Amino acid sequence: MSSIILKNISKQYYHDSYAVRDLSLEIKHKEFIVLVGPSGCGKSTTLRMIAGLEEITEGSMYIDEREVNSVEAKDRNIAIVFQDYALYPHMNVYNNMAFGLKMKKIKRNEIKDKIEKTTEILDIKNLLYRYPSQLSGGEKQRVALGRAMVKEPKVFLLDEPLSNLDAGLKARMRLEIMELHKKLDATFIYVTHDQTEAMTMADRIAVMKDGLVMQFDTPSNIYNKP
Ligand code: ADP
Ligand code: ADP
Repeated sequence: MSSIILKNISKQYYHDSYAVRDLSLEIKHKEFIVLVGPSGCGKSTTLRMIAGLEEITEGSMYIDEREVNSVEAKDRNIAIVFQDYALYPHMNVYNNMAFGLKMKKIKRNEIKDKIEKTTEILDIKNLLYRYPSQLSGGEKQRVALGRAMVKEPKVFLLDEPLSNLDAGLKARMRLEIMELHKKLDATFIYVTHDQTEAMTMADRIAVMKDGLVMQFDTPSNIYNKP
């Protein structure tokens, strides 16, 4: 299970300004949540706080009803996919995917099995020996998803993962990510400034502006209001 509750969360990078202000969200297990809003409204900061990559200035966060703080971030079983993919350039695809598992001292055979299973789902078996510089945008994107997936996270965070792809590939990857969500037993939180992505992918959308959540509802309730 992986419900997430954010209670009156705020983030200040500087003393006199808030990147995120008094944000409260209750996210259910296996929901697909999209945070949408213009650049600078606090989406990435929110995601990074959930991942434990950023200190929370005020407020509290619960995962599966247990309060967590940033100190415990490492064992949160959360994976994050970044906009620029952030693959390790000096490692081939196999080792990019294996790295996190090696850190967790998982046995080599087990790592191999997990990578095999994941690369099958994502259809990237043929890329295992390539380096990131030898991959197209869409391939990098799949590898980044794969690197997150092998960790079998219960929470999947995606920060504008499609923004560097052309329109056709974007539409295809959108469907693939939705398929992935169906297959995995994980909660997805997806950040974008693209309303089409929000509308087509989300179970519920959090509309953000100036660090605030303005609306939190289903796509049809947000976009079809008379
Ligand atoms: P979004 O993801 O919606 O584009 P961000 O969460 O990146 O928004 O940024 C929200 C606000 O916080 C912006 O004003 C941004 O400049 C500021 N900000 C983001 N990251 C940092 C940082 N590391 N240091 C200082 N300010 C930051
Ligand atoms: P080692 O783990 O000692 O480096 P291996 O024989 O496991 O040696 O692997 C040799 C290289 O090939 C390593 O870079 C490894 O991560 C990589 N590798 C291992 N198995 C695969 C695989 N099925 N597909 C692609 N690369 C692999």
